[in-house]
Amino acid sequence: MSDSSRTDGTDGSDGGTDAEQPGSEPTDAALTDAEWRERLSEEEYRVLRESGTEVRFSGEYVDHHPDDGNYRCRACGTVLFDAETKYESGCGWPAFYAAEEDSVTTTVDTSHGMRRTEVRCANCDSHLGHVFDDGPEPTGKRFCINSVAMEYDEE
Ligand SMILES: [Zn+2]
Repeated sequence: MSDSSRTDGTDGSDGGTDAEQPGSEPTDAALTDAEWRERLSEEEYRVLRESGTEVRFSGEYVDHHPDDGNYRCRACGTVLFDAETKYESGCGWPAFYAAEEDSVTTTVDTSHGMRRTEVRCANCDSHLGHVFDDGPEPTGKRFCINSVAMEYDEE
């Protein structure tokens, strides 16, 4: 999709908020709240930094099934999911049966009166979605991830 050209008009101190640099290892977890707001759109911020959820079937990657490529963290560019692990779950959000090794962390989330397992980016600690145990073989996992938390990379 269009690489939403973010104007890098940083009024901050160092001016070094050069996002989308896969490969370089920025210290994303250390960004201030203001820096996150600058880097992300309002909706991205709400999902990634405030553990929000995009509206069902609204995401750009719900019906997105490329043959190959990767899905990267929209906040920091880390590769999270291989397109080969994406499948049609019918749940209204992009679903994967596996995450790239060491790319995500999971914690128990008891908000909204439910007991779910939250998935976060291991690099920048941004919220991505949840993982459930009703996925297909070979893992039996269903990573239910917000489109807005990812950026498809066809490489
Ligand atoms: Zn990240």
